[in-house]
Amino acid sequence: MAEAAKQPLPVVPFLKLPEGGDPYLEGLKCKQCSAVYVGDRSHCSKCGARDSMQPTRLSNRGSLYVFSIVHRSFPGVEVPYVSAIVDLEGGGTVKGNLINVEPSPEKIKLGMPVEVVFKDALGRKDREGNSYVSYFFQPRAN
Ligand SMILES: [Zn+2]
Repeated sequence: MAEAAKQPLPVVPFLKLPEGGDPYLEGLKCKQCSAVYVGDRSHCSKCGARDSMQPTRLSNRGSLYVFSIVHRSFPGVEVPYVSAIVDLEGGGTVKGNLINVEPSPEKIKLGMPVEVVFKDALGRKDREGNSYVSYFFQPRAN
């Protein structure tokens, strides 16, 4: 008998997959100064506040801060691909892959508008057969 389809898992803890809702990235926002961070922390490095972090939903829109075109990687990883760091609107800086763009320095501009998209993590599965949802960046028109 076929097993019931498993719910895909997020590739990173800050990718949230609410049941019946759209996936999103979650950051932490300082209650004192509103600085936004991605990843676990209990102290604010901007204002020094302790234990004042609360979860916040990050924007799916941002701009390209910096990128690198990767030509060599681990066996099985298709190259070239574009590794990018994106500043999200409203705060939060996230690293990920930039897709749907030619991996060429002429086609990618610093500061270009991008959006966060969520997709299956290239068909990869773990030993238990779980699939994963990942996030990517892609250029957006405005
Ligand atoms: Zn703060």
